[in-house]
Amino acid sequence: MLLSGGATEIVLEGETIRAWGGDGRLAAEASGRVTLAAVGERIRWNGSRFLGDTLDVAGAPDLRVGNRERTGRVRILARKGELLAVAVVPLEAYVAAVLSREAPPRFHPEALAALAVAVRTYAAGAVVKPRDPAYDVVGGVEDQVFDGTDGVAPVFREAADRTRGMVVRYRGELARTVYHSTCGGRTEDAASAWGKDIPYLRAQYCNDCADSPVYRWEYRMSEEEGRRVAKALGVPHGKDLRIAVTGRTPTGRASRVRVSSGGVSRELQAAEFRKTAGYAKVRSLKMEIVPVAGEWRITGEGWGHGVGMCQYGANGMARRGAGYREILERYYPGTEIAGETP
Ligand SMILES: [Zn+2]
Repeated sequence: MLLSGGATEIVLEGETIRAWGGDGRLAAEASGRVTLAAVGERIRWNGSRFLGDTLDVAGAPDLRVGNRERTGRVRILARKGELLAVAVVPLEAYVAAVLSREAPPRFHPEALAALAVAVRTYAAGAVVKPRDPAYDVVGGVEDQVFDGTDGVAPVFREAADRTRGMVVRYRGELARTVYHSTCGGRTEDAASAWGKDIPYLRAQYCNDCADSPVYRWEYRMSEEEGRRVAKALGVPHGKDLRIAVTGRTPTGRASRVRVSSGGVSRELQAAEFRKTAGYAKVRSLKMEIVPVAGEWRITGEGWGHGVGMCQYGANGMARRGAGYREILERYYPGTEIAGETP
């Protein structure tokens, strides 16, 4: 879990600060304040001592790293004159923390358990194929949202605990357990969304997400906003701006959108249109675009890419009595739930 990267100096604060080297031996100890600097591939401790390229630091009773409180150990690495700070977070604490950011606490415990397995599978996949050998997953939008392990509500920790170590596998390999908020009635094929067929990520009917607040939505795109989007997509604005869906996937989602104005016409991936308009405005591609008096009335169903598990659908299934295994089997058909992470 990368906390920060690219700094040449990191300040540690704590009553007692201890640092262990890559060999696991205590390398340095101090109280109050320590400044670490990167000198090539070595870490300089308080301006004088040179240590190796890796240090595990911890504080008692607490540790502040660059002005933020950190529980547990933090690994500091020197790379070409820059320092990386990596939180050493136990997997189950990570699962509970991600879950707390991606699902409401009022979700049914079975739905939270299903999501915990999906989150863990994703994290376990990241450990098997890390982006960088030094850290497993990047905090932030690149991976799942991660905001530290403090203050995670008990319902999320319980969902992680109950499913401890369980992951989804397909033919022995960790599955790509993607999920989204609300499918709007039918999930999407990975092949349609991303151009790659994945046998357990094929469209499924879902009649369990109808109580999602975004099961149906509407967005009024103003003329001005339409022009901004068209311009961003390479179509300069004229008076006759037109935006229309020109292609659909087998589940009815928009696949192509045509934007034309002033003799310039561009047909593009609907996903590119959605990204440019804003994911929170055009919430899904299960949408219709209707011109109304110089504006566009965009109505749609669901929120997200629609592939894999529908979170509100999982909650709906749980509420009518389904267990988390049944939920996972529905949204990732043909997979199996295995007991241990690698
Ligand atoms: Zn659904």
